[in-house]
Amino acid sequence: MPSTTEQQVGADFSFKELRNRIHACLEENNLQLKGSWSILRKAIFIATSWILVYSAIMTYGPDSFWIAAPLTLVLVVFTLAMGLGVMHDASHRAFSRSQILNNIANLTLTFMGGSTIIWYQDHVISHHGHTNIPGKDPDIHTNGIFRFSPSDQYRWFHRFQHLYAVPLYCTKALIWVWYEDMNILATNKYKLRGKRLFMLFMEILASRASHIMLFILVPYLFFQSWAWTAAFYLSHWLLFSISMVLIFEVAHVANCQEFFPEQDKLEIDWALHQLLTTANFKTNAFMVWLVGGLNQQIEHHIFPTMTSIHYPLIRPIVMDYANEHGVPYLEYPKFRASLAAHFRHLKNLSKRPAAA
Ligand SMILES: [Zn+2]
Repeated sequence: MPSTTEQQVGADFSFKELRNRIHACLEENNLQLKGSWSILRKAIFIATSWILVYSAIMTYGPDSFWIAAPLTLVLVVFTLAMGLGVMHDASHRAFSRSQILNNIANLTLTFMGGSTIIWYQDHVISHHGHTNIPGKDPDIHTNGIFRFSPSDQYRWFHRFQHLYAVPLYCTKALIWVWYEDMNILATNKYKLRGKRLFMLFMEILASRASHIMLFILVPYLFFQSWAWTAAFYLSHWLLFSISMVLIFEVAHVANCQEFFPEQDKLEIDWALHQLLTTANFKTNAFMVWLVGGLNQQIEHHIFPTMTSIHYPLIRPIVMDYANEHGVPYLEYPKFRASLAAHFRHLKNLSKRPAAA
């Protein structure tokens, strides 16, 4: 456990007390914890725009690179907005009070080529339940490729990790689609049984079929060229992948967050653990919209079932509560600053530890 934790916060830091303040604030503003019209409107706008932009690429893209390239960039923006600002909320059942609407919004992940069952196990259960705990948090488990936590075993190639991070981050989504999900199914990583295991098998089949159809077969039918199809496929997924990975990594691995020793259950207060392991970054209104409030991962981690639309409203309450108890509220002034901190962290841990 980090040495500073107990002395700084004292025994009176309480998630329950913070939650009461947040619930009082929502009540005062006549807001519900889950769902809102604005996130529903946003989802409809993104889904409609995605279909229109995709159709435009297929219709006009084959005529000119100068039409296909910028439209593909716009498509990446809408894929990201859908993943981070709609599907992510839905996976936490925060998109709507209706579970049917959450399931529909969550299906956008299947549609793109991912698995909602694996995302739920990996992200909602493991990552959120064990943030920055090596061996438990899948977001910092890289099979030794990166040294994210100071307790990770040092390997000689880590000296280059700040250099190979970018190309590897670019391929993360493709590794999910073409290897990781199938490996999770083959090894039954989550020890699923019966109907749940069968559903995972069916979802992986359906999501790969949808991915191949949307991003390979249909584009080939329109472009009539494997080179153009590959260019469309790779540019969309490599750009999507690095953007998504960096948004998630800067929140927990950026030179200021703490890493805890392996433990099955959190050994300190829930909200305190999230404050010590998570950082926000300030940004402009477009980025807030694009990342679905994930520039405020502190609020998301303390209240994962709250719709992301409310994060700016509750930020001052969380910040005040942290200040009252002497707990740092980690926030970078810009996205650029959090990015620099992430790569500084990789560089710091690229050095061989003195005791090794
Ligand atoms: Zn989450």
